[in-house]
Amino acid sequence: MPSGQTQPDAPIFALASGAGRAAIAVMRLTGTGCGEILRHLCGTLPAPRRATLHGLRHASGDAPPILLDRALVLWFPGPNSYTGEDSAELHLHAGPAVITAVADALVALGARPAEPGEFTRRAFMNGRLDLIEAEGIADLIDAETEAQRRQALEQADGTLSRLYDDWATRLRTTLAHQEALIDFPDEDLPPEIEQALLDELRALTREMRAHLDDGGRGERLRRGLLFAIVGVPNVGKSSLLNTLAERDVAIVSPRAGTTRDAIEVRVVLGDVPVTLIDTAGLRETEDEIEAEGVRRALFHVKQADCVIGMFDGDTPPADLPANVILVRNKIDLVPTTKAPHGAIAISVHDGTGLAQLTEILADRARALTAAQAGPPLTRARHRAAIEESASHLAAALDMHWPEMRGEEMRLAMRALGRLTGAIGVEDLLDTVFGQFCIGK
Ligand code: GDP
Ligand code: ZN
Repeated sequence: MPSGQTQPDAPIFALASGAGRAAIAVMRLTGTGCGEILRHLCGTLPAPRRATLHGLRHASGDAPPILLDRALVLWFPGPNSYTGEDSAELHLHAGPAVITAVADALVALGARPAEPGEFTRRAFMNGRLDLIEAEGIADLIDAETEAQRRQALEQADGTLSRLYDDWATRLRTTLAHQEALIDFPDEDLPPEIEQALLDELRALTREMRAHLDDGGRGERLRRGLLFAIVGVPNVGKSSLLNTLAERDVAIVSPRAGTTRDAIEVRVVLGDVPVTLIDTAGLRETEDEIEAEGVRRALFHVKQADCVIGMFDGDTPPADLPANVILVRNKIDLVPTTKAPHGAIAISVHDGTGLAQLTEILADRARALTAAQAGPPLTRARHRAAIEESASHLAAALDMHWPEMRGEEMRLAMRALGRLTGAIGVEDLLDTVFGQFCIGK
């Protein structure tokens, strides 16, 4: 992104939608000089914020201007635009030749193609949104389910930022009181000030810890869950995976496993994207010691949010974690539908118990991501910053020397400032905005 950094407001452009087979392609443009470019292409500056139809013309060299396309044009003068800079949208006919011709003309007129996330990066630089809101927009673009959409939209709209800003404001006030105690130790400041200050530090630490202590629900919903099916060979793991992928759960994208010996399928359970992983392929070891195979499978699924332990006789797989869901398959082969060890009795072949199992899995997915009071923590970046802030506050509470307490409070402030992007985040920006698509 070097060019973006050296010339923060030079005009950039990107297709915002309509690449591939589509009728309309929206070409987005922002930066100082946008107005001039529009005036050149349209022959006039369109009325602000109104969709108007224009012939787009451009002349290369001394040749007379040629018509590139007839397009709906929107002109958003800064600072009241998404980026805060002069901006425009050209709603082009989506043919590749039209897009190329217009892109060539834009380059000839001094604009350059945008980097991923560069529009939103400019919006951030121009104070239109903070880092938390920008990340919410990236999540909104990636949202696959309704629950993800709601969480991302809330974040993009500033609900999470308000929580963090509120902490920062309270901490700033408390720090001001602390500094008054440092600067005027001998004045007659009311003695309650120090007590109130310590109480507020304790309250802030408690609130941060409660926010951190949410079991990772928001982070899980954002990235989706991992459910692993484990069990000795031949109990029906692959059959169950296939059935779950084809049943009332929607397939998002089937793909070959990322690990050598596992097959993954993306499904939606309880409105949460879930990657089901079938711990197959332990073929080299399975004939020798089946238990070793299970241990290996468990090693692969250590990071799983939920383990489905499958068996087809009387003995469930060994060494399973406490959160396992036990499933006894092939119940069609035995006269009873009661399964041992409190397992859910199913038959992938005749469908017995599958609806119940799907519902239990959906309940688990919902429970793992269920909303709690207040907006959830959604990213490892946020978790790290809040942990840092909370531990400086805890250290501040341990300090008896006012200067040292003040220093810890300043460090806690700094961590919160980096969280929302208010201070010292230049090194973070490439990472944050690099996750975006081009055109946003
Ligand atoms: P995996 O090795 O655990 O993945 O097991 P598979 O899914 O490959 O299934 C092993 C064998 O069990 C196959 O022949 C399946 O057709 C069979 N099978 C799977 N589910 C059932 C079931 O519910 N009833 C019966 N009778 N056979 C089943
Ligand atoms: Zn299998």
